[in-house]
Amino acid sequence: MKILVLGAGVVGTATAYYLFRDGHEVEVVERLTGAGMETSFGNAGGLCPSFAGPWAAPGMPAKVLKMVMQADAPVRFSLRPELRRLSWARKWLRECNAPRFRVNKLRMQRVAHYSYACLQELMAQTPIAFDFHADGVLQLFQTDAECKLGNIAANALAELGIDHKMLDSEAALAIEPALKRASVAVAGALHLPADASGDSHAFCQALAAWLASQGVRFHYSTRVEQLLHTAGRVTGARTSAGPLNADVTVVAMGNQAPALVAPLGIKLPVYPLKGYSITATVTDAAQAPTVSVMDEHSKVMISRLGNRIRAAGMAELIGDDLSLKPERKKLLVRTVRGLFPDGIDYENASFWAGLRPMTPDGPPILGPSGREGLLLNSGHGSNGWTQACGTAKVVSDLASGRKPEIDIEGLTIERYRG
Ligand SMILES: Cc1cc2nc3c(=O)[nH]c(=O)nc-3n(C[C@H](O)[C@H](O)[C@H](O)COP(=O)(O)OP(=O)(O)OC[C@H]3O[C@@H](n4cnc5c(N)ncnc54)[C@H](O)[C@@H]3O)c2cc1C
Repeated sequence: MKILVLGAGVVGTATAYYLFRDGHEVEVVERLTGAGMETSFGNAGGLCPSFAGPWAAPGMPAKVLKMVMQADAPVRFSLRPELRRLSWARKWLRECNAPRFRVNKLRMQRVAHYSYACLQELMAQTPIAFDFHADGVLQLFQTDAECKLGNIAANALAELGIDHKMLDSEAALAIEPALKRASVAVAGALHLPADASGDSHAFCQALAAWLASQGVRFHYSTRVEQLLHTAGRVTGARTSAGPLNADVTVVAMGNQAPALVAPLGIKLPVYPLKGYSITATVTDAAQAPTVSVMDEHSKVMISRLGNRIRAAGMAELIGDDLSLKPERKKLLVRTVRGLFPDGIDYENASFWAGLRPMTPDGPPILGPSGREGLLLNSGHGSNGWTQACGTAKVVSDLASGRKPEIDIEGLTIERYRG
């Protein structure tokens, strides 16, 4: 079949890979100059199936309100009335309770662990490099109260059968000796040995280049303007370079997916949640972290990507704003420097902002759109790098008329209809 993939972020590029592997004729349309240039460019790099979970959690609304009051709050939201945000927030609030959290977490865990297995298989079958690093993740706690929450998380991991270990300060420092120089307290940590990290931009670039060498066509600097359809069936897309026809079209346009499908009456509840990252060069390997660290105190994730450190965090519900706020960069630098004071060139750190394509409940929206010829691969939120390969494989299986290897209950748009 001829299949059109719209968007070459980590989700679209991975989708193109599985479709190509299934023997389809694949074309990818991307408005930017290359693959992985938007949200997939500067994320934290965490491949973290162990703690993939929804932002909608019990007590979260109160926590968000409390955080907003703090100076340098990691969370912000705009009070400007916007129908799209209000509608998303209303749905999100409905998910912030224990029963819904459990359902959503299990759905995301199902995707995330499957996805990590798919990524490992992909790495074995392609010659791509992307600073992959499988040394586990330390979820770091600075206070006893945070350690208590860590224990609750550990119990949930035990219930799910996920490999983990609660560590005291000494054991945490033994796993990541660079923390010995931290100027903030390390009260304890939750070690997730099965998690990893990697550069999703490098992954996209390398995979797209390899796919192009195998015959997949990438139309860069080409904007998708509209879906083409006749008699209720989607037949491709009109682009800035002209029409492209296909038997199946897959929408993998991150935050832009809702606007594309809306004229067909498809309501995708995906809203951008802004975050920031810094990337800095390691100048002394002995003093920089090798293990990925999720600092629970600041909610900042720090990953080692080759000879660089990437640190990302913050959550701003303020629409499609990608402006770079210098005070956010200072906050990120201050946070990372508190943990790793030396061995990193903070002075020349680059700064980036991205928009996580969030669903209100957390899991992505995969597969059937309700329109013949149109499949969705959207709404990967704050776990899109972790979930990309698994969701891509699911969508490719569906496009090829095969039953996906994981149950897609609760992962399709059906959960919002009704
Ligand atoms: C600060 C931050 C930290 C994060 N950390 C992590 C992490 O540690 N681990 C993790 O798993 N995830 C993380 N994420 C989430 C992850 O980055 C996203 O979920 C993922 O990148 C989404 O991928 P995507 O392909 O859906 O979207 P995108 O990467 O945004 O790709 C969509 C593509 O569609 C293209 N497009 C849009 N409109 C059009 C159009 N009209 N025509 C043509 N092309 C179009 C865009 O240019 C873009 O390239 C983080 C995100 C942020 C912001």
